[in-house]
Order: sequence, then structure tokens, then C-alpha cells
Amino acid sequence: MTAAYRSTLEQIRLAFPQPVSNPVHDSYFVHSILRALDLVDGMKSKLPILGRAEPLDYAAAVQQQLADAPSSIEKVTAELVGYLEGITVFGHPRWQENVLTQPAIPSLIGVLLSALYNPNLGWDHTSHKVALAELELAALSARLIGYDPAQAGGIFTFGGTGTNLYGVKIGLEKASPGTMQRGLHEPAVVIASDAAHYCRYNLAGWLGLGADALVTVPTLGNNEMDVRQLETQARAALAQGKKIAAIIATLGTTDAFGLDNLGGIVEVRDALVKEFQLPYRPHVHADAVIGWAWSVFNDYDVEANPLGFRRRTLRAIAGATHQVRHLHLADSLGIDFHKSAFTPYISSLFLLKDRKEFDLISRAKEQMPYLYQFGEYRPGMFTLETSRAGVGILAALASLRLFGKLGLQATLGHLVEMAQLLREHLEGHAATTVLNRDNFGTVTIFRVYPPGVDTFTIKQQEFEDPVCRDLLHKHNDYNRRIYQYLHAEAAAGRGVMLSQTDCYRLTSYGAPIVGLKSYMLSPFIDEEHVQAVVDKVLEARERVTSS
Ligand SMILES: *Cc1c(COP(=O)(O)O)cnc(C)c1O
Repeated sequence: MTAAYRSTLEQIRLAFPQPVSNPVHDSYFVHSILRALDLVDGMKSKLPILGRAEPLDYAAAVQQQLADAPSSIEKVTAELVGYLEGITVFGHPRWQENVLTQPAIPSLIGVLLSALYNPNLGWDHTSHKVALAELELAALSARLIGYDPAQAGGIFTFGGTGTNLYGVKIGLEKASPGTMQRGLHEPAVVIASDAAHYCRYNLAGWLGLGADALVTVPTLGNNEMDVRQLETQARAALAQGKKIAAIIATLGTTDAFGLDNLGGIVEVRDALVKEFQLPYRPHVHADAVIGWAWSVFNDYDVEANPLGFRRRTLRAIAGATHQVRHLHLADSLGIDFHKSAFTPYISSLFLLKDRKEFDLISRAKEQMPYLYQFGEYRPGMFTLETSRAGVGILAALASLRLFGKLGLQATLGHLVEMAQLLREHLEGHAATTVLNRDNFGTVTIFRVYPPGVDTFTIKQQEFEDPVCRDLLHKHNDYNRRIYQYLHAEAAAGRGVMLSQTDCYRLTSYGAPIVGLKSYMLSPFIDEEHVQAVVDKVLEARERVTSS
């Protein structure tokens, strides 16, 4: 007699891809995926949202418990699809809120394949050719940004945050040798601009430096780090006997696409090494998780302009590559394929100019006795993660193979073109002004003013003159009201989803400037959607002014 559990086990076995080819079951598997996609399709409309966004029932969520009986693929699929109800469709041309993208189909297949065979990137024994893919991506990316691929090395990690963490961790070990073993034993600082990503607070905290160890350098009007202030602050830290674990240069900042001057930063670093006769070179990490992709334009012939971009777009591209082409000066950098290359989360590459520096954070082999009897590629010796997925790797590979340099140039170039078109409209209108005029990405931050305000002079006045504080606050409120109108309209299917930033930057007297933001990343955005933004903004102004 067979044991009672056997029938349940048989049912469960059917829910797995079969280890040995079984055409009938294989087509059941494919059909199950199709069913899920079909159900999702049923929720699509013209709006940038799947189905309807009902209020979330948090109280019901905490009542959940594990069911007694197993379920079926069909039921689980329908339930899972239900969890997508109300989600935003980031690839929709009427959604321009933030740096979130719709992954392209090949990278989705990359995710599926990786999940299907579940490689573990700790070593090549458990990932085989997927390990090779990681090495290929590191080499390809190194070459793209100008590192020597024969010396550089890279690993995928848990997000742009992870890439910054690796950069600072290696820098800390250089500045304060033995920290991996002994722990933090002397004061060390991390330097970044006030427009750098907030993940710096996390990594300073998690590395044991403490957020108080962050040195924040002010930015110039174009959102790039003020290199002279960097010099002053770095010198002050060194004079107090502190180590510099890392200087983080940001290329492009999240809100405005500000690009730090890496050449200038590296010069300051080198001069201070001499002046203080430092026994180490403070590590310069480039947070290029957004800006790296602009490297595809490094060798674009702006004069001949073979892709036929408009002059304004060419100027923006040239403005961006003017800084991005210096990425190779950094000791390490971060690339998010999920930010600028249309892959799903998480697909982030930490690149090190000299891969030998991974030794600084390597464990000794004796600490991992049960691993690594064979195999040659063993990133698990130095990665923070133990198990590491191949999902981001195959997604990135798929995306880069799909686009090629030309595909990225055409797609990013088009988005820059659309952003420039929006700026042209906004600058041309008496009621609106672009705040990040000197930044050249696909994000536009702008401000709307009530009738009677001279938008040619107000921006400067509000920024510099403390007498304008009340006026600034009044206009901040005005822009918040404009945003509320735009948001309500967009939610009802009229207009475009934009976002509001509560602090585009601080004025010279320390007050926050509220801005409206259009972040263009959908490849489907075209002139009609730009026009829709402009029309809605002007409509909002009329409504808000008369209310
Ligand atoms: C998004 C972002 C990060 C954080 O990256 P995640 O992938 O979200 O962890 C870091 N730096 C910059 C400049 C970013 O825009």
C-alpha cells in the first residue's frame, strides 16, 4: 500500500518543469505562462495603469495565513496576476514620473531562463556559462566607458546602492588597511555632493562609518559638485587626521541629471596625496548608475550627425558626453541596467578599474571549506552576497545584445530629443521656466508661475535673494497646487503623469525649491505626448489661478 502523502506529492510534481523532456508537459508549462500574460492583457486600457487602483487593505494583509491544501498552477497564476491590479505601466508614454523603465522582451526572457535553471554566481561550478556572461558584460562595459578590459573586473550586485557600497568598502580598506579583519579602527570620511544619491547615508551607516562621517560638498547651479569646495573640505578632513575612504562622484544625479567633473575631482585627489604625502590614494568611485549609458555617444560624430538628431539634441548629447567620457578616470563605478538599459530589477554592475583590488575584500579560502574544490571563477570569494542570481546578468546581456550601440543611441537620443522639445515649449512660454536647464538628460524639472510674474528674472531672484523667501514659499505652494491638478487629471485618464520634487535644490539662503518633473524613459514617447504635457500644464495654470 502506498503512503498517504504520495498522491499530494504527485500533484506537486506536476507543478515543476520536468527535468527530462516531456513535450506534453512542456507545452502545459508554456500554456501556463501564456495564460498569465493573457490575464494581464485583460487589465490593460489606454491608461498608464493595469485595471483600477483600489485603496490597499493593509488590515486584511496581516490576517493572512498558510493554507492547508495545495493549490494549482491555474489558481496561483490568477491570484498572482491579481497582485498586478492597479500597478503603474512604467513604459506608457503618458507616465513620466521617475526613473523607472519598462523592460524589453529579450531581457524578460533572460529573467525567465535564469530563474528556470537558477544558476548561483558564487562560482562557475554552479553557474557555468552564466559566469562567462558576467565576465563578458564586465569586459564589454569596461571597454564602453574606457577602462582596459584586461585589467578591469566587475560583478553584479544588489542595485546601484550595492555598487556604491562596494566602491566605498574597497576605498575604506585602501585608506585604512585591515578594516575587513579588525573592524573600523580610525576615523574615516566619505565625500559626496549634496546632489549625490541618498543611499550614501545607508552605506555609511552599514559600513560602520556612521552617517556623521559623510562630508557633503555643495553643488554649483548646474548640479555638479563644486570642486573647489571639495578641495577645501577634503583638506580639512585630512588636516584633522581623518582618512578619506572614498570620494563619490555622481554622473548623473537622480533628480536633475547633474554630472560631476571627474577630471577635476581626480586632480584634487592627486594634489592632496602629494601635499599630505598620503600612503594611499583616496578611492574615487563614480556613481554612474544613470549616466553610464551616455557613453554610447562618446564616439558619435556630432558634426556629421548620421542619426539626424536636431541641433538642440546634439548640443545636449555633447554636453553630457563632455563629462561622461571621463568615467575611466574613476577607480570604480556603478552601472544600473535597470535604470538606463530597459531591464527588470535588479541588474546592477560594479566595475573596478583594477580587478586585483577585489583581493582587498576577499575572504581566505579556509573560511569556506566546503566550496571551491574545483572551478576557476570564484567571485564568491569576495562578494558580499553568498548566493547571487543570474537574473540581472542575463537580463543585461539580453538588453545590450538587443540594442547594440545604435539601438541605445537611437532610443536615448530620441528621449533627449523629446525632453529638449518639452524644454523648448516650457522656455518659450511666459508662465513656465526650466530649472535644470544646464543638465542634459531626459529629465526636465520646471516651475510654473501665476500671471504677472516675470519668469525671466524670478528664478534668479528666488534663488539668491532672501527677501524673496515669502514669495518663494508662495510659488512653491502654487506649484504644489498645479501638481495636484495634473495628478488628478492624469489619474482620470486626461494628461500625463508627472511628479513633484519637494526640493529640487536649496536656495542660497537654504529654502527648498519645489519643482515639477517630467522623466522621459518610455520609448513610446512622441511629440503628441510632449504637447499633452504642455497643454495640461497651461490648463492647470488657468484652473489654479482662477480658483
Ligand atoms: C537610483 C540611484 C541609486 C540607487 O540605485 P538602486 O539601483 O535603486 O539601488 C544610486 N545612485 C543614483 C545616482 C541613482 O539614481
